[in-house]
Amino acid sequence: MSGHSPRTLDSQEKCFKIANLWLQSLRVAFEKEDAALFSECFDSRGWFRDLMTFSWDFRSLQGHHDIKKYVVKSIGDVKISDLRLDESSEGCPHSGHLGQTSIVESALWFETPRARGRGYVLIIPPDGETKPRAFAMLLMINDWKGHEELGFQRGAFEAYWEDVQSQRRHEIETNPDVLIIGGGQTGLNIAARFRQMNIKAIVIEKNARIGDNWRHRYPSLKLHTPRKHHTLLYHPYPSNWPEFTSKEKLADWLEQYAHNQELVIWLDSTIESDPTYDSVVKKWTVVVNRNGDRLTMSPTHLVMAGGFFGDPNIPKFEGQEDFEGEILHSNTFPGGDVFEGKRVVVIGAANSATDICQDLASRGATSVTMVQRSSSGVVSSNFNAILFKEVYPEWRSLEYSDLAAFALPVKGLRELIEGMQPIAQEIDKDIYQGLAKGGFMVTQNPDGSAQMPMVYERNAGYYVDFGFWRLVSNGSVKVVHGNVAKLTATSVNFDDGSHVDADAIVLATGWLPIREKYREIFGSEVIDRTSELWGIDEGGEIRTGFKPSGQPGLWYALGGFEFSRFYSKQLALFIKAQELGYYPCPNWERPSQ
Ligand SMILES: Cc1cc2nc3c(=O)[nH]c(=O)nc-3n(C[C@H](O)[C@H](O)[C@H](O)COP(=O)(O)OP(=O)(O)OC[C@H]3O[C@@H](n4cnc5c(N)ncnc54)[C@H](O)[C@@H]3O)c2cc1C
Repeated sequence: MSGHSPRTLDSQEKCFKIANLWLQSLRVAFEKEDAALFSECFDSRGWFRDLMTFSWDFRSLQGHHDIKKYVVKSIGDVKISDLRLDESSEGCPHSGHLGQTSIVESALWFETPRARGRGYVLIIPPDGETKPRAFAMLLMINDWKGHEELGFQRGAFEAYWEDVQSQRRHEIETNPDVLIIGGGQTGLNIAARFRQMNIKAIVIEKNARIGDNWRHRYPSLKLHTPRKHHTLLYHPYPSNWPEFTSKEKLADWLEQYAHNQELVIWLDSTIESDPTYDSVVKKWTVVVNRNGDRLTMSPTHLVMAGGFFGDPNIPKFEGQEDFEGEILHSNTFPGGDVFEGKRVVVIGAANSATDICQDLASRGATSVTMVQRSSSGVVSSNFNAILFKEVYPEWRSLEYSDLAAFALPVKGLRELIEGMQPIAQEIDKDIYQGLAKGGFMVTQNPDGSAQMPMVYERNAGYYVDFGFWRLVSNGSVKVVHGNVAKLTATSVNFDDGSHVDADAIVLATGWLPIREKYREIFGSEVIDRTSELWGIDEGGEIRTGFKPSGQPGLWYALGGFEFSRFYSKQLALFIKAQELGYYPCPNWERPSQ
């Protein structure tokens, strides 16, 4: 999607010209408050993505009709002015491509009476008769005027740092505006953002140390995404940091991040069930259990950042009490060494399952058998790296790359990836052949969009290949199919009558939805009022939270590192908007679609 780093003056001038021509049309649409003109700035299949500019919501619209229908209600009210191209070296108009199509990309700035906004546009250049038109444009509120991010703080030279910190800490601990539940990367990114936005927030984490959620996972685990993807807000990795961070390094980095960003965190802490919300004073009453001490607190907001996954999904099998070996979930897999000389069956065929099979095969298990029930989505680490470098090229900072990455709605991204499948098939042909030889079933999805929708629709059923295919191809990992019918003392038996001998069974069977964990805390009456989590909503957006949930004062936040890095800003803006009295809906109901 992105342009390439070296940009000649010629091509840059041309890009400026095209971007300016396109921008003129958009300016006229705003000046005339004309929704039809606005929609005509887009290609007939173009995408408009709006984060809080035209409504108190996140929306993705495709095509003239839907774009016009969406903006017509408020184009007269938004009062967008000073719409301009970003002229910085990273944001200025430059050439790029969408699959095989050449485009011009540019970051944008604009103003409204009370906000400063940013945007990003991907423009299809004019072609003979046609005008330049946007394939995709994002507009988003970036700051409430007078309440901008603090940025670099020099501090008074005479003040003792320790005194300033302990006073700040005391104020937050005694009277927090926001309680963030969960100190994984999501909770930490949000807390760091809130600190810069002057929102008093405390994080409570049930583990004894920040990073323990990673420390407790299986020892071979390395992130499958490159380090730029899993960079935390304001805090780049050292230049010699590995591309794929190991779980221990990540755990320690998160812990150090919390310290360096001066976040206020209570460890060994959680909230007790049944917090109550007073809709008159707009505050919660919540009991926090801090290492056995029960403290009643009254924050205005609760942000649920308890992770993507709820409890492990542990299937029950007939006869499992007769099985003589160990049965464990991937969540507690201690590493392949423990299973040296044993016959291990791994149930499941996605990321954890393939990682664990690789670990077992390389650490002396007598046999490793994977049970695959249905086809898995597969992407190679090589193709993943190509996709990633398109959006996050080396030459561009993370801030601008995130802006560009979030400009294209997820459905637009899906179309783009579908178009790239012939390239993926070519790059990964050895992998597909190797997997097929060993009987591992791969799905491309009916529309050819491969594993990508599985990430955004259910975050399950796919894996990123880091060499697993070779083990399947050469028989080091055997793949069998079917449903487990029952266990005996020493075997796993399938409904087609076949069986596999086993000394241990690893259940790489995923997790239950996190929303069910939240139901235990808040009860069904509250949770049923709130949005679903993950998957695509009716507005074409991934349900990651970071916007009104449906329950006043309750916010959800989840997703990969890029989500909290980016959307923590919108969450902070919503909270500030309530504080400033901008938000028009007194009870913070879920915005209507
Ligand atoms: C095996 C495995 C491999 C993965 N590989 C990758 C990868 O390669 N790349 C990638 O981007 N992502 C990967 N992920 C996904 C990754 O875990 C999530 O993207 C990320 O951890 C989500 O961060 P989070 O902060 O939302 O949740 P978590 O990291 O799960 O953090 C949630 C925190 O909340 C705490 N918590 C939960 N409930 C409460 C409560 N009631 N009270 C107090 N504290 C609470 C938990 O203890 C935890 O510390 C992987 C996940 C797994 C399981």
